[in-house]
Amino acid sequence: MVQNHLSMEASTKKNCFYESLHRCPECRSESIFKDSLRGELICTNCGLILESNTIDQGAEWRTFNSRDYEKRSRVGAPFTLTLHDKGLSTVIDWRDRDGLGNKLSPANRAQAYRLRKWQIRMRIHSAVDRNLAFAMSELDRLASQLGIQKNLKETSALIYRKTVSKNLIRGRSIEAMMAASIYAACRLS
Ligand SMILES: [Zn+2]
Repeated sequence: MVQNHLSMEASTKKNCFYESLHRCPECRSESIFKDSLRGELICTNCGLILESNTIDQGAEWRTFNSRDYEKRSRVGAPFTLTLHDKGLSTVIDWRDRDGLGNKLSPANRAQAYRLRKWQIRMRIHSAVDRNLAFAMSELDRLASQLGIQKNLKETSALIYRKTVSKNLIRGRSIEAMMAASIYAACRLS
């Protein structure tokens, strides 16, 4: 009985949600215009705003022609200097599921485990990678303690990467060099 009542309530709620997306609650008109610039759903008949602050599901990059706009869809995290591999290397999911969400067979699960292990080893293989991986976690820590903005964090990461490529880190502590990079970035801005 209780279960029946609950499922009925859920279904009416679902219908309301469906209608609010597709039909104007004021004039019952079905011609809804999506203004992606303002993030609003507007009834073209009576002008009622059905929804504001909608999520923009388009590309988040600035593009200069329509071909780029179509090509650069919203996929993956943006490129960043604050990750030691710039966020570009492959990550193998820790869940043992395939692309359709089915569980892997035991043999495939063992293979996924080995692939994952080697992928992690490969991502951080050289001394420079290890240095950067530690330095970037240190940057995260310092930036959150100091309340530093994201763009300053990127600049700090860039300066630190330059010091690494010029071999200035050797013999000095990573923490101190990262702190110096943040200081330099703050002075530059
Ligand atoms: Zn309307």
